[in-house]
Amino acid sequence: MSFIDLRSDTVTLPTAGMREAMARAELGDDVYGEDPSVNRLEATLAERLGFAAALFVPTGTMSNLLGLMAHCGRGDEYIVGQQAHTYKYEGGGAAVLGSIQPQPIDGDADGSLDLDKVEAAIKQDDFHFARTRLLALENTMQGKVLPLTYLAAARELTLRRGLALHLDGARLYNAAVKLGVDAGEITRHFDSVSVCLSKGLGAPVGSVLCGDAEVIGRARRLRKMVGGGMRQAGGLAAAALYALDHQVERLAEDHANAEALGRGLTELGYSIEPVQTNMVYVDAGGQASALAAHLLERGIRVSPAARLRLVTHLDVKSADIPGIVEAFAAFRRS
Ligand SMILES: *Cc1c(COP(=O)(O)O)cnc(C)c1O
Repeated sequence: MSFIDLRSDTVTLPTAGMREAMARAELGDDVYGEDPSVNRLEATLAERLGFAAALFVPTGTMSNLLGLMAHCGRGDEYIVGQQAHTYKYEGGGAAVLGSIQPQPIDGDADGSLDLDKVEAAIKQDDFHFARTRLLALENTMQGKVLPLTYLAAARELTLRRGLALHLDGARLYNAAVKLGVDAGEITRHFDSVSVCLSKGLGAPVGSVLCGDAEVIGRARRLRKMVGGGMRQAGGLAAAALYALDHQVERLAEDHANAEALGRGLTELGYSIEPVQTNMVYVDAGGQASALAAHLLERGIRVSPAARLRLVTHLDVKSADIPGIVEAFAAFRRS
C-alpha cells in the first residue's frame, strides 16, 4: 500500500532526475575543501542569496547551531520566539553546546515577533545580565510568511541596537515563492541565513548556512568540532543543486494543494487556520488520535495533535486532495 504522507515535507524522496544528478556528481574530500559539487553548491547559494560565503552541513539543526554559535559566545544571549525551531525543537543545542542563553518571547499569530517586545527584551549593558547579541527569526514560521516590511523593520531595529540578525530559513523558498520575489529580497535583511534542502525542495539530506566570510569561517571550524565535516558529500550537494534548479518554482503547486485541502476541510465544518504556504493547521480537538487512526486505515499518514498539521510537498499530488478531504468527511460521518 502506498501512503499519502502529510506529516512533514521532510518525507519527500529524490526524483528520478535528482538521482541521476547524484550519480553523476563529481566528488572529492570536502574537509580538504576539494569536493567540486559541494563547492559549487556553497558558491551558488551564497551568490543567489547575496552573501560572501556559505557552508554545507548535514542538517538544519546544525546549520542554526553553527549560525548562533558563530555570532554569540559563552554568556551571550539571543532573542527568539517561544515556538521557534531554534529554541523549541533543537534539543536546546545553543544552550547545551554554545552556552548561549535564549531569551524567548511570545510570537504573534502571523508568525512574527512584536518588535516592541523584542526591543524591551534587549538587556542593558550591566554585569548582572547576559549580553544580548542576536535576534533569530523564522520564515516561513509554521507555514506563515513574514512580510518584507517587517523584515526591514527588524533589520532597522537590530542595526540600531547593535544585534546580529539570523534567519532560520528552513522554508525560505516557500516564503519567496509565495511572495513572488527573489529569495535574495528576503535574505538581504539578515547577517546569516540557514536554508534546508531536505524539506519541500526534496533533497534527501542537507542544509546550507550563508553569511559573511568571517561568520562562515567560524562556522566551518565549529562544524568540524561538532562532527559535521563530511568527506565525499558531493552526491548530496548535487541533489541540493538539482533541487535549487528544478524544484523551487513547483513549490507553488504545494501551496495550491494546501489551499485546496484547507478549503475542502472548511466546507466540511473543520476549523482551519488561514493557509499561506504548504501547511494546513486543523483544530482536531480531542479527536486527534481517533482521526489519525481513521486516516491511516485509508492510507493517509498524519501526526496526531489537537492542532493537527497537514503538510503538502513534492510527493502529494493535486489528484490526492479530493481523496484526503473525503477521508476527513467519512470521519465526520462516523
Ligand atoms: C526542519 C527544520 C529545521 C531543521 O531541521 P533538521 O531536521 O535538523 O534538518 C530548522 N528549522 C525549521 C523551521 C525546520 O522546520
